[in-house]
Amino acid sequence: MRIHVAELRRHPGQSESFSFQQELAPLTLAGETITFIEPVRVSGKVTSGRAVLSVVGRVEARVRRECSRCLAPFAEKVVAPLEEEFVPSSQAALLDEKAKEQARLFAGEEIDLKEAVTEALVLALPMKALCRPDCPGLCPYCGRELKEGPCACAVEPKDERLAALKDLWAARPEARQEED
Ligand SMILES: [Zn+2]
Ligand SMILES: [Zn+2]
Repeated sequence: MRIHVAELRRHPGQSESFSFQQELAPLTLAGETITFIEPVRVSGKVTSGRAVLSVVGRVEARVRRECSRCLAPFAEKVVAPLEEEFVPSSQAALLDEKAKEQARLFAGEEIDLKEAVTEALVLALPMKALCRPDCPGLCPYCGRELKEGPCACAVEPKDERLAALKDLWAARPEARQEED
C-alpha cells in the first residue's frame, strides 16, 4: 500500500488522489480470527503540507467473522474513514509530543498506508461479532442454533404441567367467584 510522495513533497500545497485494492492477511483480535473475503479497497487523497503529508480517504472491506453467540461464520462489510499525517523521520525532532504521537513517521520517498488501513478497519469493526443483532445464540442444554427455531428444551416439562394446573384452577367456577 505504498504511495510515492517525492514529487508531492517538492510541491507543498499539491494533492494527489489514490485508489487501490489489496489483499490483507487475516487479523486476530481478542482471540477472534477475522479473514478478508476480498481485497480491501482504499481510496483518498494525499496533500503535501510544509512538513507533513496529510492523507484523507476511506477503506472498504468485507470480512468473515464468527458469531459470538451461535458460532456461525458470517460476512460483514466494514467501511472506515482514513485520516493520517505522515511526517519524514528527519523532521520528527521538530514535532511536539502530541504531534509525534499522532503522526506516522516515514523515511525515503514513499509512505506505506498498510498500518493505517489495518488500524482504521479494526477501529470500525463492531466489537461484538454477531451474525444478526438479535441472534438468540445456542441452547445451553442441547446446543441447537435457536435462530433456526426452538428446541425441545425451550419449554421445561415441569413448567408446562404447572401452567396446565394453573389454567385448570382458573377455570373452576369457585376460583372465578373468588376473583370477583
Ligand atoms: Zn449468531
Ligand atoms: Zn435445547
